[in-house]
Amino acid sequence: MSDEVVDSNPYSRLMALQRMGIVTNYQAIRQKTVAVVGMGGVGSVAAEMLTRCGVGRLLMYDYDTVELANMNRLFFRPDQAGMTKTAAAAATLTGINPDVALEAFTMNITTLAGFEAFKRSLSDGAGRSRVDLVLSCVDNYEARMTINQVCLELSQAWMESGVSEDAVSGHIQTILPGTTACFACVPPLVVASGIDERTLKREGVCAASLPTTMGIVAGLLVQNSLKYLLEFGSVTRYLGYSSLTDFFPTLDIKPSPGCPSGLEEGLDDLLSQLSALQ
Ligand code: ATP
Repeated sequence: MSDEVVDSNPYSRLMALQRMGIVTNYQAIRQKTVAVVGMGGVGSVAAEMLTRCGVGRLLMYDYDTVELANMNRLFFRPDQAGMTKTAAAAATLTGINPDVALEAFTMNITTLAGFEAFKRSLSDGAGRSRVDLVLSCVDNYEARMTINQVCLELSQAWMESGVSEDAVSGHIQTILPGTTACFACVPPLVVASGIDERTLKREGVCAASLPTTMGIVAGLLVQNSLKYLLEFGSVTRYLGYSSLTDFFPTLDIKPSPGCPSGLEEGLDDLLSQLSALQ
């Protein structure tokens, strides 16, 4: 057995990041507010990681309840079946770290009322955002487009995440309104074609899901969030993950001149600024 004295304070290992020169002020995490939209396979794990990292405030959104069918993912337990995902997550996360202020919103963000309530919950009352970062961990494009629109209206930075239907690849993307492409600038083909994604569900076909891929995507998402919030390393604009070939592509997606989401204003100026920087 080693004689080394191990500090039992859970924050001391996090503060070591500062002593080792990785971050300049780890404690700044206590002043940060992060919103996690979608508490499924990726969002619940991301919320747990942020809680263990000691984030100051965590807002959680989901309309669904925990089902036994969710047990092939991490985080939720069989005894939580039937609880709303937000209530179950709040109970577990408070037990892990009572220092984190939790706000749970059991709601559908895509309805008309849901859109307004979602925007209000992120706002400070004076038209600005009260959060530092929004993480999109939803599983449909309609919800992603809603997050995109609310974040554009509040000039709020957000990060998108996704796992493929065959469960073996995923991605994360950083969206900074006015700087990077927004979700509507480079929409998936279904969105660009105006197809209702609900009509794409094939009868009898069950999407695959692996706790490994979801855990990896949640880890990539929170790692990128920590770098963004605490200003260390380089924040990725887009990072893909293909598990079959261990391929991690990165991209930088610029705003589209035809963006329908309000970026047209000043876009020429923005583009000339960007090209001057290159
Ligand atoms: P599956 O669809 O594979 O059975 P799931 O519904 O838990 O599982 P995940 O991909 O693991 O899907 O997680 C996505 C989460 O995002 C879900 O918990 C879902 O309820 C939530 N979500 C999706 N759309 C919305 C929305 N419009 N408003 C609030 N939460 C949403």
